[in-house]
Amino acid sequence: MVRLRQRLARSQNSLGQGLLNLLSSDSLTEDTWEEIEDTLITADIGVTSATQIVENLRTRVKVLGTRGPDEVRGLLREELLDQIGADTDRTVRTEPHGDRPAVIMVVGVNGTGKTTTSGKLARVLIGDGRSVVLGAADTFRAAATEQLQTWGGRVGAPVVSKEEGADPASVAFDTVERGAQEGADTVIIDTAGRLHTKTGLMDELGKVKRVVEKKSQVDEVLLVLDATTGQNGLRQARVFAEVVNITGIALTKLDGTAKGGIIVQVQRELGVPVKLVGLGEGPDDLAPFDPEVFVDALLT
Ligand code: GDP
Repeated sequence: MVRLRQRLARSQNSLGQGLLNLLSSDSLTEDTWEEIEDTLITADIGVTSATQIVENLRTRVKVLGTRGPDEVRGLLREELLDQIGADTDRTVRTEPHGDRPAVIMVVGVNGTGKTTTSGKLARVLIGDGRSVVLGAADTFRAAATEQLQTWGGRVGAPVVSKEEGADPASVAFDTVERGAQEGADTVIIDTAGRLHTKTGLMDELGKVKRVVEKKSQVDEVLLVLDATTGQNGLRQARVFAEVVNITGIALTKLDGTAKGGIIVQVQRELGVPVKLVGLGEGPDDLAPFDPEVFVDALLT
């Protein structure tokens, strides 16, 4: 968790000095409140959440007669945590069912970090003493399969793959079967993310899910979102949420220029918790999402 804090502090997520200065101003005037709201919107928190946060904050400051910058900052922290859902269950479900492995489907648009996140997640689980099988169900690009194989080698997980153009559902089926044969705890299936048509995507992911359910059950559908893509990423997320029942979000590339507030918006829009955050390209750059650490980094 220390690492998450350090990484976020190094990235450009922070709401920065601007907000702290605003909160420190002698009198919280109408203009100051507006500027606070603008700062929150600039951080990608979204207009609805920003408005609500400022409204609640204003009421509480008034009712409590709170003026000191530290107190206002504390209240803002509480409001942000409230929006993010400090008590939300963010566990990634990885427990096997008897002799059948838990199944995690990783979905999202190409380039968001699906393969990388699949590899990094396998690394985390293996580090926890679990056994993992990876499935290369993005059969449309040979490079995607090769990339997953590289990750498998790197983290010590077998990779089930087929030739380019093979049926993604059959790769998923074989992955679950291999997982069961090897007594694996969890299988992670990396899927294709071509947003060519909504029906195409729906058919493909639906088929993968149905086929997996012949052998086990789908425990998690993790939607991978690139935090640097802002509104565009949100639009893509909506399409995925319409075609498949997403159970959690992995928000990648938070180490870069992303505005961290996107987490608030993503959850609000999709009603699905952010469970994992990607903080770099390396095997150890995946962390569970911790709202308190995140909000503290945002307010630093
Ligand atoms: P996919 O097409 O969705 O499978 O995406 P990839 O896993 O191939 O990732 C696309 C690019 O994003 C690669 O260059 C990854 O190294 C990079 N990437 C993935 N996750 C992260 C992250 O959390 N931070 C950074 N900086 N880069 C990432």
